[in-house]
Amino acid sequence: MEADNGISIESKSPFELRVNLAKDLPETTVKEALASGDMGFLHSFTTGSYLDGPGARVVAWTTGCGWRCQYCHNPDTWTLRNGFPISVGRATEELRKYRQGLKKMSGGLTISGGDPLMQDRFVVKLLAAAHAMGVHTCIETNGYFGERLSDAELATIDLVMLGIKTWDDERHIRLTGRSVEKTLAFARRLAALKKPMWVRFVLVPGLTDDPEDIAHIAQFAAALGNVERVEVLPFHQMGRFKWEKIGIPYALEAVEAPGPEAVERACEIFRSTGLKAL
Ligand code: SF4
Repeated sequence: MEADNGISIESKSPFELRVNLAKDLPETTVKEALASGDMGFLHSFTTGSYLDGPGARVVAWTTGCGWRCQYCHNPDTWTLRNGFPISVGRATEELRKYRQGLKKMSGGLTISGGDPLMQDRFVVKLLAAAHAMGVHTCIETNGYFGERLSDAELATIDLVMLGIKTWDDERHIRLTGRSVEKTLAFARRLAALKKPMWVRFVLVPGLTDDPEDIAHIAQFAAALGNVERVEVLPFHQMGRFKWEKIGIPYALEAVEAPGPEAVERACEIFRSTGLKAL
């Protein structure tokens, strides 16, 4: 299926490089879209993922992210205009095709990115439409713009996958360009609302593997009371080609993926606080 400008709505995976798909759109149109949420910007839809939430997922990959994580494997999603424009009605129709299958496979819709909350009005509308058709809903976010969603809007989300990158704030700023505080504040708010949450933690040798730092995240997450699981995701180099193609300096060329023992050690730190970690 194609978007209005002939670009395929679906991609095989988010690792497909996509740039400049909305580059010719007038600035006023972009601003109106962001304000109303009637139109959003997507890198792609992918289907049949078992890695982005419970069961089989359709994933809408949004564009736009204000962070600059050194290990980001989708830097083409940083820029809103790298995505193709799509109306919320069209995106809903795309999802409707998979509705029955998603239910049978205990799956649903995940909105990831980029950071979906850069397009909070569009995301809210798409989540509401999914919720209304009985599809399980999930967002994957860094939480920085969590305050943009009202409690009523959060009620249309069944699960939040929150990325916590590192605990120490100076390290977090070096790693992502932003403070961790707003992420933690969003986590506390989700806990107060008893919103089911998964924590996603990317293990990067030399950057995020300090056991003391991981222990702080673990203690924080365990105390929240709403964290159903922690996913320790080993750093990989699959997105490196995107940095090279886009022409952004990449600092992690020499960093190797952590081995299974290192991943297990990190999981053990989370488990020692009573959390389920995998
Ligand atoms: S928050 Fe996610 S999309 Fe944004 S830079 Fe970091 S890893 Fe990439």
